[in-house]
Amino acid sequence: MGLVSPGVTGRLTETLEDENQRMRNSRGVVNQGRCTSPKPTRQVEGKRNALRRWLYAIVHGAQGRGLPKVTPPIVATLLIFCALLYQFVNISPGFAQGLRESARGKSLVGLYSQLARAVDRQDWRQALRLVDELHRQEKEVAQRYDLEGYRLQLEQRAYAAEPLLPPQPATLPFLHQPFAGVFPVSNLFDHDLPLGEADNNGRFLTLQGQVWIPNPLHPCGKSDGHTGYDWEMPIGTPILAAAAGRVSLARAEPEFYCPLLGRSVRGLRIRILHELASPTGPERFETLYAHLSQIQVREGQKVFPGEVIGLSGNSGCSGGPHLHFEVRRLEHTNSGQAAAVDPYGWQGSGLDPWSLHSQGAESLWLWQVGQAPSLGSCWHPL
Ligand SMILES: [Zn+2]
Repeated sequence: MGLVSPGVTGRLTETLEDENQRMRNSRGVVNQGRCTSPKPTRQVEGKRNALRRWLYAIVHGAQGRGLPKVTPPIVATLLIFCALLYQFVNISPGFAQGLRESARGKSLVGLYSQLARAVDRQDWRQALRLVDELHRQEKEVAQRYDLEGYRLQLEQRAYAAEPLLPPQPATLPFLHQPFAGVFPVSNLFDHDLPLGEADNNGRFLTLQGQVWIPNPLHPCGKSDGHTGYDWEMPIGTPILAAAAGRVSLARAEPEFYCPLLGRSVRGLRIRILHELASPTGPERFETLYAHLSQIQVREGQKVFPGEVIGLSGNSGCSGGPHLHFEVRRLEHTNSGQAAAVDPYGWQGSGLDPWSLHSQGAESLWLWQVGQAPSLGSCWHPL
């Protein structure tokens, strides 16, 4: 029906007015000047009734009057389908897991290809970040182990590529004691040969040139090929940065089999990179603190001499609570690669065998005055 025109009779106008008022009262229609005829209202009402009947039919299984016969089966089928889908997703734990793994798989593939591109353009910092991210996401233990080995290689490239910092005030000797107090030493640096598990030559050579047979019960020379010094101390003893530097590694070591304990282990350790001036030019050293119970620094952090970096412990391949402290030279090594050296130098007669070895380096006294931790009776073994 069109708009009410001025030409219509008063009767018709009254009728329409009454009808409009009735509609407003009953439905709240306020479209003044618009036709709100009863016909569309009845249609709407009819649809609502039909909807009520459908819902009634769905709930009670009865067909409402005027309900299209095909409707309930369609709705019911849809409901059953939704219910089955819901059950499938919930009952089958592998479904959601599969979705997540598929997403992670795609993300791992993406990260590996990003890593390949970073290595191609020799962006070592980015490559190290990506290796760390992959290590966090990778579930395969063997793959994580490979990543950790790969990280060490990348670090060597990164160090080689980075220009040395301008010489700092620190000069040789540069080390402070890595802990406060006095603790008994239980293992020395093996000058023949300090290659850890790769040694196995059955000889232990002290800094003063004594040859011992390595023995876990020996008071001073317990492990063949030992790369540093061990001090026995209670778990939780604060461990201090032995010199100013940057934390190059602060995490659990790659898992490996420990013959001493007869099982696989992963100890906590920290490495700090030190850059200093030496008579032969800028030089870099690393200090390593192992078997920790707690790490209190993060990789990349700058530390000051004597700053607490973590707590001692008994983690990894360790027969009892102790600190393993090790110093590595990054320059002036026979292979051009980092090599462990004895921070107490070499005091035996003749040349230090380790300084002549293809993977070796010369050991120097590296302790500042009054800072060398005591070697107790192992200094002059009986
Ligand atoms: Zn050790």
